[in-house]
Amino acid sequence: MEYISILGDTSFIACRGCHYSILPSSIHSHFQGKPHQLSFETREEILQETTKYASLIWDKDDLKKTRIPSSFPFFFPDLALYNDGLACQDCSYIVRSKNRIQQHYKDVHSWVNPRGKGRIPKTSKEKNPWTTGVSCQQFFHSPPGHSYFRVDSKRPFSDRQTRPRTASSVEEERNEDESEIRSERSEARSEFSQGITRIYF
Ligand SMILES: [Zn+2]
Ligand SMILES: [Zn+2]
Repeated sequence: MEYISILGDTSFIACRGCHYSILPSSIHSHFQGKPHQLSFETREEILQETTKYASLIWDKDDLKKTRIPSSFPFFFPDLALYNDGLACQDCSYIVRSKNRIQQHYKDVHSWVNPRGKGRIPKTSKEKNPWTTGVSCQQFFHSPPGHSYFRVDSKRPFSDRQTRPRTASSVEEERNEDESEIRSERSEARSEFSQGITRIYF
């Protein structure tokens, strides 16, 4: 697929040019505008391609009901990869802004910033409670579906692991040397399915 890729078993697709997810319901508007400016026929072809995948999250209503997993044991090459994530050590929350992680600790974990009151001596180096330099990605840049998830930045998830869900592709999978990949997939799937009922039957 030239313009889009299916992001494994996540039920999301990505625009390969923009490196973020798009909803099938937005394919026409996304590819009609800049930078793509594709013809109606090409946009229809892309839309047809997505209909081969039975369980895609189709529109914003679907997306609002979907819980984004907190981590994957690989990264998606067709999504932007960040290595400057700040991860909460008490839950799975990840952001890329110091203000936001501080706010999260205050709001959710009743954290009091030791630098918040008075002048801090130059020698004072209290360690922040969050982890820095976390590899992370997100499906969408804005809500819903914009939360960051932790990834393994050394292991790309390859396209060949994802096929349309037909009886024949299930057969092919059994014959290939993909036992390791399958276990990764089920790992991601089991986590992903916790908050979702409509995707995996
Ligand atoms: Zn795009
Ligand atoms: Zn937290």
